[in-house]
Amino acid sequence: MSTNSEALQALIAGRLPDSHGRFGPYGGRYVPETLIPALERLADGVRTHLPASEFRQAFARELASWVGRPTALTYAGRLSAEWGAHIWLKREDLAHTGAHKINNALGQALLAQRLGARRIVAETGAGQHGVASAAACARLGLPCTVYMGEIDMERQAPNVGRMRLLGATVVPVTAGDRTLRAAIDEALRDWVSDPLGTYYLLGSAVGPHPYPYLVRELQAVIGREARAQFQEAAGRLPDAVIACVGGGSNAIGMFHEFVADHDVELIGIEAGGRGATLGGNAATLSFGRPGVLHGSYSLLLQNADGQIEETHSVSAGLDYPGVGPEHALLAQSGRVRYRTAEDTQALEAVRALCQLEGILPALESAHAIAGAKVWAAEHAGGTVVVCLSGRGDKDMPTLQQTLLAERP
Ligand SMILES: *Cc1c(COP(=O)(O)O)cnc(C)c1O
Repeated sequence: MSTNSEALQALIAGRLPDSHGRFGPYGGRYVPETLIPALERLADGVRTHLPASEFRQAFARELASWVGRPTALTYAGRLSAEWGAHIWLKREDLAHTGAHKINNALGQALLAQRLGARRIVAETGAGQHGVASAAACARLGLPCTVYMGEIDMERQAPNVGRMRLLGATVVPVTAGDRTLRAAIDEALRDWVSDPLGTYYLLGSAVGPHPYPYLVRELQAVIGREARAQFQEAAGRLPDAVIACVGGGSNAIGMFHEFVADHDVELIGIEAGGRGATLGGNAATLSFGRPGVLHGSYSLLLQNADGQIEETHSVSAGLDYPGVGPEHALLAQSGRVRYRTAEDTQALEAVRALCQLEGILPALESAHAIAGAKVWAAEHAGGTVVVCLSGRGDKDMPTLQQTLLAERP
């Protein structure tokens, strides 16, 4: 307990991750020896460029003129009246390419340029990070190769087309599970073969140090804007902040600016899928145990032998058996509470937001909206800011088979 609260104090004071990339017991670098020099070079580059005013100004300029930031903070009046608490939406769905992922892709592409990389490699599961990476690379004139599992390429054909239109080379991964996990392995292999000329653009707040830190810093713009916008509108801070958690990048970006505000309740919503049975969800913080996945020590969904479990979620972007190490610490220390929303609750939230607010949310984001409904029922008259991480146009095939199939 005391070690936990010490780690939380260090986090709030801005001292985490430590020099080993640890968030308390979590994080670190669990990678083949051949990757260590590349990760150290990257960590050096992050230390040099991220705080530099040249980098910060270039990033801010592109966020404003190309991504469309700041994104709006919208009061959801009709939804609030229906659910009994004041609900505000941080509109990452309005960011270029339709989600928060562009903040990270753009920031890392700018960093890659400054590190002298000649090409970018990325991995993608549902295709959203691949599209954001392809767009950022086109903008900066960097060649981009995206590894994608063969199965995902079939499931997400429109995003494969978008990446190719944006000039990226999409490489089908036929090894392993032929989904995101195998794609990450291939991207890492590519990077190892040319660690100086190639930059690996990782898509969430996961992976070996310094990625969880780097991604948090690039996504923290979400919470910084939301906190200032809410204060401007209401003259105080909200009672609660809610975000969905896949790998954890939109949530850590939203929470970071609020972590020191002890009166603001922070809640992460994971994919509860079909329910609590093993294999039926992707709720790593709720049901996972400590272990190593993709270079980092964190919680993960695994069976008694340590084999990674199958996961399920109606939303492809939350369907991942791991989670970023900073969330593992935030959960253990109790600063953030993690709950689940099941597929049916997320679908119901899509319908509510469409019909009451005229906004079609991504299925991932709909989990956060569903979490807000539960929170509102427990805190009548309270005020909550929800991160609406992306727009739902990409989810139309799933919505055709679910919500729209229920009605004539
Ligand atoms: C990818 C994605 C997520 C999940 O990723 P995080 O790293 O947990 O943010 C959530 N929402 C949308 C819209 C996404 O595209």
